[in-house]
Amino acid sequence: MGMGMGMGTALSNIDCVLVRPQHPGNIGAAARALRTMGLSRLLLVAPRCFPDAEANALAAGADALLDAAPVHATLDTTLAGCTLALGLSARRRGVRLDELDPRAGAARAFAHAAAGGRVALLFGNERTGLENDELARCHAMVRIPSVDDFSSLNLAQAVQLMAYELRLCALAAAPVAPMDAADPPAGLREVETFFAHLWQTLDAIDFHKGRAPYTVERRLRRLFLRAQPSLRELRILHGMLADAERMAQLARPDATMRE
Ligand code: SAH
Repeated sequence: MGMGMGMGTALSNIDCVLVRPQHPGNIGAAARALRTMGLSRLLLVAPRCFPDAEANALAAGADALLDAAPVHATLDTTLAGCTLALGLSARRRGVRLDELDPRAGAARAFAHAAAGGRVALLFGNERTGLENDELARCHAMVRIPSVDDFSSLNLAQAVQLMAYELRLCALAAAPVAPMDAADPPAGLREVETFFAHLWQTLDAIDFHKGRAPYTVERRLRRLFLRAQPSLRELRILHGMLADAERMAQLARPDATMRE
Protein backbone atom coordinates (compact mmCIF):
# COMPACT_ATOMS: atom_id res chain seq x y z
CA MET A 1 0.00 0.00 0.00
CA GLY A 2 1.30 3.47 -0.88
CA MET A 3 1.80 5.73 2.08
CA GLY A 4 2.27 9.14 0.50
CA MET A 5 4.51 11.29 2.62
CA GLY A 6 4.32 8.55 5.29
CA MET A 7 1.40 8.17 7.64
CA GLY A 8 3.53 9.06 10.64
CA THR A 9 4.53 12.33 9.06
CA ALA A 10 0.93 13.28 8.33
CA LEU A 11 -0.19 12.51 11.87
CA SER A 12 2.70 14.53 13.27
CA ASN A 13 1.20 17.59 11.54
CA ILE A 14 -1.93 17.28 13.67
CA ASP A 15 -2.10 19.01 17.06
CA CYS A 16 -4.64 17.95 19.63
CA VAL A 17 -5.43 21.12 21.58
CA LEU A 18 -7.18 20.94 24.94
CA VAL A 19 -8.64 24.36 25.67
CA ARG A 20 -8.90 25.19 29.41
CA PRO A 21 -9.03 21.56 30.60
CA GLN A 22 -10.31 21.30 34.16
CA HIS A 23 -9.21 17.85 35.30
CA PRO A 24 -5.56 16.78 35.06
CA GLY A 25 -6.78 13.18 34.79
CA ASN A 26 -8.41 14.02 31.48
CA ILE A 27 -5.15 15.50 30.19
CA GLY A 28 -3.37 12.24 30.99
CA ALA A 29 -6.13 10.11 29.51
CA ALA A 30 -6.05 12.25 26.34
CA ALA A 31 -2.28 11.71 26.07
CA ARG A 32 -2.82 7.97 26.32
CA ALA A 33 -5.61 8.07 23.74
CA LEU A 34 -3.38 9.90 21.25
CA ARG A 35 -0.39 7.65 21.89
CA THR A 36 -2.36 4.48 21.17
CA MET A 37 -3.35 5.81 17.75
CA GLY A 38 0.03 7.10 16.64
CA LEU A 39 -0.61 10.78 17.28
CA SER A 40 2.13 12.57 19.15
CA ARG A 41 1.21 16.22 19.60
CA LEU A 42 -0.76 17.38 22.61
CA LEU A 43 -1.12 21.12 23.31
CA LEU A 44 -2.68 22.76 26.33
CA VAL A 45 -4.28 26.18 26.53
CA ALA A 46 -4.61 27.57 30.06
CA PRO A 47 -4.98 24.21 31.86
CA ARG A 48 -6.37 24.65 35.39
CA CYS A 49 -3.78 22.34 36.89
CA PHE A 50 -0.69 21.10 35.01
CA PRO A 51 1.76 19.38 35.41
CA ASP A 52 0.02 17.11 37.89
CA ALA A 53 0.55 13.60 39.26
CA GLU A 54 -3.00 12.64 38.27
CA ALA A 55 -2.20 13.46 34.64
CA ASN A 56 0.86 11.23 34.72
CA ALA A 57 -1.07 8.44 36.41
CA LEU A 58 -3.76 8.37 33.71
CA ALA A 59 -1.25 8.76 30.89
CA ALA A 60 -0.24 5.21 31.79
CA GLY A 61 3.19 5.44 30.21
CA ALA A 62 2.39 8.02 27.54
CA ASP A 63 4.29 10.55 29.67
CA ALA A 64 6.44 11.65 26.73
CA LEU A 65 3.42 13.43 25.24
CA LEU A 66 2.78 15.20 28.53
CA ASP A 67 6.42 16.21 28.94
CA ALA A 68 6.50 17.57 25.41
CA ALA A 69 3.10 19.32 25.63
CA PRO A 70 3.44 23.06 25.07
CA VAL A 71 1.32 25.10 27.47
CA HIS A 72 -0.08 28.30 25.99
CA ALA A 73 -1.88 31.14 27.75
CA THR A 74 -4.23 31.88 24.87
CA LEU A 75 -5.66 30.20 21.80
CA ASP A 76 -4.14 32.95 19.62
CA THR A 77 -0.59 31.72 19.99
CA THR A 78 -1.73 28.13 19.59
CA LEU A 79 -3.45 28.74 16.27
CA ALA A 80 -0.88 31.16 14.85
CA GLY A 81 1.00 28.62 12.73
CA CYS A 82 -1.83 26.28 11.87
CA THR A 83 -3.63 26.30 8.53
CA LEU A 84 -6.73 24.25 9.38
CA ALA A 85 -8.63 24.35 12.68
CA LEU A 86 -11.50 22.02 13.53
CA GLY A 87 -13.49 22.57 16.73
CA LEU A 88 -15.03 19.59 18.51
CA SER A 89 -18.37 20.52 19.99
CA ALA A 90 -21.45 18.67 21.11
CA ARG A 91 -23.60 21.71 20.55
CA ARG A 92 -24.32 23.80 17.50
CA ARG A 93 -24.17 27.47 18.35
CA GLY A 94 -23.95 31.03 17.10
CA VAL A 95 -23.51 31.55 13.37
CA ARG A 96 -23.35 28.03 12.08
CA LEU A 97 -20.14 26.47 10.94
CA ASP A 98 -19.93 23.59 8.51
CA GLU A 99 -20.63 20.56 10.63
CA LEU A 100 -18.78 17.30 10.06
CA ASP A 101 -19.06 13.94 11.74
CA PRO A 102 -15.83 12.48 13.14
CA ARG A 103 -15.16 10.39 10.03
CA ALA A 104 -15.50 13.31 7.64
CA GLY A 105 -13.61 15.58 10.07
CA ALA A 106 -10.74 13.13 10.33
CA ALA A 107 -10.63 12.73 6.56
CA ARG A 108 -10.41 16.49 6.09
CA ALA A 109 -7.78 16.88 8.82
CA PHE A 110 -5.72 13.97 7.52
CA ALA A 111 -5.79 15.10 3.89
CA HIS A 112 -4.69 18.60 4.91
CA ALA A 113 -1.91 17.25 7.15
CA ALA A 114 -0.73 14.77 4.52
CA ALA A 115 -0.40 17.61 2.01
CA GLY A 116 1.90 19.41 4.45
CA GLY A 117 -0.58 21.71 6.24
CA ARG A 118 -0.72 22.11 10.01
CA VAL A 119 -3.95 21.07 11.67
CA ALA A 120 -5.33 21.92 15.11
CA LEU A 121 -8.17 19.91 16.63
CA LEU A 122 -9.72 21.94 19.43
CA PHE A 123 -11.40 20.30 22.41
CA GLY A 124 -13.24 22.39 24.99
CA ASN A 125 -13.45 22.62 28.75
CA GLU A 126 -15.33 19.78 30.47
CA ARG A 127 -18.10 21.98 31.81
CA THR A 128 -18.42 24.78 29.30
CA GLY A 129 -17.06 23.33 26.06
CA LEU A 130 -15.62 25.68 23.43
CA GLU A 131 -16.78 29.29 23.58
CA ASN A 132 -18.49 30.91 20.59
CA ASP A 133 -15.43 33.03 19.90
CA GLU A 134 -13.22 29.96 19.94
CA LEU A 135 -15.47 28.09 17.50
CA ALA A 136 -15.61 31.17 15.26
CA ARG A 137 -11.89 30.71 14.60
CA CYS A 138 -12.40 27.23 13.23
CA HIS A 139 -12.89 26.22 9.61
CA ALA A 140 -15.54 23.71 10.61
CA MET A 141 -16.89 21.98 13.67
CA VAL A 142 -16.92 18.27 14.33
CA ARG A 143 -19.88 16.85 16.22
CA ILE A 144 -19.92 13.30 17.47
CA PRO A 145 -23.52 12.29 16.75
CA SER A 146 -24.55 11.49 20.31
CA VAL A 147 -28.18 11.49 21.52
CA ASP A 148 -29.82 14.92 21.93
CA ASP A 149 -30.69 14.64 25.60
CA PHE A 150 -27.23 13.46 26.75
CA SER A 151 -24.78 14.69 24.16
CA SER A 152 -21.49 15.32 26.01
CA LEU A 153 -18.82 12.66 25.97
CA ASN A 154 -16.00 12.69 28.47
CA LEU A 155 -13.23 14.91 27.08
CA ALA A 156 -10.61 12.15 26.76
CA GLN A 157 -13.14 9.83 25.15
CA ALA A 158 -13.92 12.45 22.53
CA VAL A 159 -10.16 12.71 21.91
CA GLN A 160 -9.93 8.90 21.62
CA LEU A 161 -12.67 8.77 19.05
CA MET A 162 -11.08 11.41 16.81
CA ALA A 163 -7.66 9.80 17.23
CA TYR A 164 -9.11 6.45 16.17
CA GLU A 165 -10.69 7.94 13.05
CA LEU A 166 -7.36 9.59 12.18
CA ARG A 167 -5.60 6.27 12.64
CA LEU A 168 -8.00 4.65 10.17
CA CYS A 169 -7.22 7.43 7.69
CA ALA A 170 -3.49 6.84 8.16
CA LEU A 171 -3.84 3.09 7.66
CA ALA A 172 -5.82 3.61 4.45
CA ALA A 173 -3.74 6.51 3.18
CA ALA A 174 -2.83 6.73 -0.48
CA PRO A 175 -0.12 9.11 -1.71
CA VAL A 176 -1.23 12.74 -1.49
CA ALA A 177 -0.10 15.58 -3.70
CA PRO A 178 1.78 18.12 -1.57
CA MET A 179 0.44 21.67 -1.35
CA ASP A 180 1.73 24.29 -3.74
CA ALA A 181 4.94 25.17 -1.94
CA ALA A 182 5.14 28.53 -3.69
CA ASP A 183 1.69 29.56 -2.46
CA PRO A 184 0.71 27.69 0.70
CA PRO A 185 -2.43 28.59 2.67
CA ALA A 186 -1.89 31.42 5.14
CA GLY A 187 -1.52 30.62 8.82
CA LEU A 188 -4.36 31.64 11.11
CA ARG A 189 -2.26 34.49 12.51
CA GLU A 190 -2.21 36.11 9.06
CA VAL A 191 -5.91 35.38 8.62
CA GLU A 192 -6.65 37.15 11.93
CA THR A 193 -4.54 40.13 10.86
CA PHE A 194 -6.61 40.27 7.67
CA PHE A 195 -9.87 40.17 9.66
CA ALA A 196 -8.67 43.07 11.83
CA HIS A 197 -7.92 45.09 8.67
CA LEU A 198 -11.29 44.16 7.16
CA TRP A 199 -13.24 45.26 10.26
CA GLN A 200 -11.29 48.52 10.31
CA THR A 201 -12.04 49.17 6.63
CA LEU A 202 -15.73 48.35 7.00
CA ASP A 203 -15.80 51.01 9.71
CA ALA A 204 -13.94 53.49 7.52
CA ILE A 205 -16.44 53.11 4.67
CA ASP A 206 -19.36 53.19 7.14
CA PHE A 207 -20.55 49.79 6.00
CA HIS A 208 -22.45 49.03 9.20
CA LYS A 209 -24.39 52.34 9.34
CA GLY A 210 -24.93 52.10 13.05
CA ARG A 211 -25.87 48.42 13.08
CA ALA A 212 -23.93 46.07 15.34
CA PRO A 213 -21.12 44.45 13.31
CA TYR A 214 -21.26 41.11 15.13
CA THR A 215 -23.38 38.97 12.80
CA VAL A 216 -21.81 40.30 9.62
CA GLU A 217 -18.36 39.68 11.07
CA ARG A 218 -19.30 36.09 11.91
CA ARG A 219 -20.54 35.50 8.39
CA LEU A 220 -17.48 37.08 6.79
CA ARG A 221 -15.25 34.96 9.02
CA ARG A 222 -17.08 31.89 7.77
CA LEU A 223 -16.70 32.95 4.15
CA PHE A 224 -12.97 33.66 4.30
CA LEU A 225 -12.14 30.65 6.48
CA ARG A 226 -13.97 28.43 4.01
CA ALA A 227 -11.87 29.84 1.18
CA GLN A 228 -8.57 29.09 2.98
CA PRO A 229 -6.74 31.99 1.31
CA SER A 230 -3.02 31.80 0.62
CA LEU A 231 -0.58 34.51 1.72
CA ARG A 232 -0.55 35.94 -1.78
CA GLU A 233 -4.32 36.13 -1.89
CA LEU A 234 -4.35 37.85 1.50
CA ARG A 235 -1.83 40.38 0.20
CA ILE A 236 -4.21 41.27 -2.65
CA LEU A 237 -7.09 41.62 -0.22
CA HIS A 238 -4.99 43.85 2.07
CA GLY A 239 -4.16 45.98 -0.96
CA MET A 240 -7.84 46.37 -1.84
CA LEU A 241 -8.68 47.32 1.73
CA ALA A 242 -5.87 49.87 1.85
CA ASP A 243 -7.20 51.51 -1.33
CA ALA A 244 -10.75 51.51 0.03
CA GLU A 245 -9.47 53.18 3.20
CA ARG A 246 -7.59 55.75 1.12
CA MET A 247 -10.70 56.54 -0.93
CA ALA A 248 -12.81 56.79 2.22
CA GLN A 249 -10.28 59.24 3.57
CA LEU A 250 -10.43 61.32 0.36
CA ALA A 251 -14.22 61.29 0.40
CA ARG A 252 -14.37 62.92 3.82
CA PRO A 253 -15.80 66.45 3.55
CA ASP A 254 -12.65 67.96 5.08
CA ALA A 255 -10.27 65.96 2.87
CA THR A 256 -9.43 68.70 0.35
CA MET A 257 -8.64 71.12 3.15
CA ARG A 258 -5.83 68.90 4.29
CA GLU A 259 -4.20 68.29 0.90
N1 SAH B 1 -20.90 20.83 28.43
C1 SAH B 1 -19.96 20.96 27.37
C2 SAH B 1 -19.37 19.62 27.05
C3 SAH B 1 -17.94 19.60 27.25
S1 SAH B 1 -17.28 17.99 27.04
C4 SAH B 1 -20.66 21.45 26.13
O1 SAH B 1 -21.87 21.37 26.08
O2 SAH B 1 -20.02 21.88 25.18
C5 SAH B 1 -15.61 18.42 26.70
C6 SAH B 1 -15.22 18.47 25.25
O3 SAH B 1 -15.30 17.17 24.68
C7 SAH B 1 -16.10 19.33 24.38
O4 SAH B 1 -15.78 20.70 24.46
C8 SAH B 1 -15.79 18.75 23.00
O5 SAH B 1 -14.57 19.28 22.53
C9 SAH B 1 -15.65 17.28 23.32
N2 SAH B 1 -16.95 16.59 23.13
C10 SAH B 1 -17.71 15.99 24.05
N3 SAH B 1 -18.83 15.48 23.49
C11 SAH B 1 -18.77 15.76 22.16
C12 SAH B 1 -19.61 15.51 21.03
N4 SAH B 1 -20.77 14.85 21.15
N5 SAH B 1 -19.21 15.94 19.83
C13 SAH B 1 -18.05 16.62 19.68
N6 SAH B 1 -17.22 16.90 20.71
C14 SAH B 1 -17.57 16.48 21.93
